[in-house]
Amino acid sequence: MATPENTLAFDGGWEYAPAPESTDHVEIDKRYGLFIGGDFVKPEKGRYFDTINPATEERLARIAEADAADVDRAVKAARKAFGPWSRMKAAERGKYVYRIARIIQERAREFAAIESLDGGKPIRESRDVDVPLAAAHFFYYAGWSDKLEYAFPGRKVKPLGVAGQVIPWNFPLLMAAWKLAPALACGNTVVLKPAETTPLTALKLAEVIADAGLPDGVVNIVTGAGETGAAVVEHPRVDKIAFTGSTAVGRVIQKALAGTRKKYTLELGGKAANVIFADAAIDQAVEGIVNGIFFNQGHVCCAGSRLFVQEAVADEVVEKLKDRMETLIVGDPLDKNTDIGAINSAAQLEKIESYLEIGRSEGGEMFQSSCTVPDTGYWCRPTIFTGVSQSNRVVQEEIFGPVLAIQTFRSYSEAIAKANNTPYGLSGGVWTDKGAKIFKMTQNVRAGVVWANTFNKFDPTSPFGGYKESGVGREGGLHGLDAYLSLEA
Ligand code: NAP
Ligand code: MG
Repeated sequence: MATPENTLAFDGGWEYAPAPESTDHVEIDKRYGLFIGGDFVKPEKGRYFDTINPATEERLARIAEADAADVDRAVKAARKAFGPWSRMKAAERGKYVYRIARIIQERAREFAAIESLDGGKPIRESRDVDVPLAAAHFFYYAGWSDKLEYAFPGRKVKPLGVAGQVIPWNFPLLMAAWKLAPALACGNTVVLKPAETTPLTALKLAEVIADAGLPDGVVNIVTGAGETGAAVVEHPRVDKIAFTGSTAVGRVIQKALAGTRKKYTLELGGKAANVIFADAAIDQAVEGIVNGIFFNQGHVCCAGSRLFVQEAVADEVVEKLKDRMETLIVGDPLDKNTDIGAINSAAQLEKIESYLEIGRSEGGEMFQSSCTVPDTGYWCRPTIFTGVSQSNRVVQEEIFGPVLAIQTFRSYSEAIAKANNTPYGLSGGVWTDKGAKIFKMTQNVRAGVVWANTFNKFDPTSPFGGYKESGVGREGGLHGLDAYLSLEA
């Protein structure tokens, strides 16, 4: 029998229910300041906001709200730290980044529990995906620190200066790692702004950074809402902006950056096509569909939210998918059996529910699993729409919840045309037993990553990013270094 410890997300079928993750080892302060210049400091205006547990609606902590003056303090601290940090021997700099990776590993259980408490994701995902991948990013980029000339042979590599980084709430620690690790390895200093609803693991990471002995001001963490992010983006002494979030906010940021000399990367929304050919291993494909759309409650930029099934197997796939959806456990994020945790916020739940209404009013047929959900907290049962068409809003727009739009196709070329009929281009998936089809799909689907016979697999060595309205630039791998360096001939 599988044990929770060695079972990956969505394997399901356990015969006993282990107790929820204990949170005895978790220390959350009542109140958090801003992490500026190596210390936790009070926000100038003295304003704080709550971060809550979306599964219980209970307050976890009070969090400092940074305004433009606080952001200015953080940028000044980062500027001051930049000279010594960028001139430090690269191998020495790498040691600090390695140390961050190791401390995350040592404190993995605590990070996982806090991530699930603050954001609502199942503990199995925090523990098996978010936290190990965050550590892996620091390990990977630590290794590049003293090898940058080999990454870009014949070029003179120089850090950019102060990087302003703004991240979303769906993978709070992992997004912080994606941003911080390459920036630091390349010799930049940082001002990072976590999302309003999920600041806790970034603040824990600030503790780790202090414990790792990084020089003061190399990493600064300013919490707050959208205005705080805007203050980071607009600060004249920031040299680079790295943003991950919605396409709507990405547009605002790109406008704000137009005409400045700031370098930028934008990782934005998506509406990925997951394409199932009739020759695919159907049971595996059904698992892939489930992982593609229900992983992290569907709060995933690269979620497989548009399913295209070849007509000959469409009925079989949809029936098997419905059966599988009935086995998914929705509920307490800290329970190791949970497949689908809490929706991240009341606002996000409202948005998802509005799309359920839109889908029905557009004539789509909605199916939801019949599971019960807790009375308090924010929950959405796994949902699919059939009978929808390309022009429907639930097919075109990013819902960012556990909601899948299903269509069929007959020919290979129809699948490609439908997959590409979207303003987004972040990711895609293909399920078939023919290698030739896989190669044709990966060449013709305009998306930054296309998974074959799998979905939602991440690795620090591989570049990630979008085409079209899914963004500008790449993070991860060698490409991720390029984004934090100026390369001169
Ligand atoms: P969001 O509303 O765009 O927010 C992202 C971050 O930007 C948050 O920290 C937010 O602060 C901040 N922000 C809001 N308005 C701002 C402004 N005018 N200037 C600067 N910063 C501002 O996105 P979200 O709802 O947090 O995240 C979900 C979105 O992220 C989805 O569209 C998803 O596809 C995308 N995403 C993309 C990737 C990728 O790699 N392509 C990865 C993950 C997520 P507050 O939240 O505190 O208001
Ligand atoms: Mg929260």
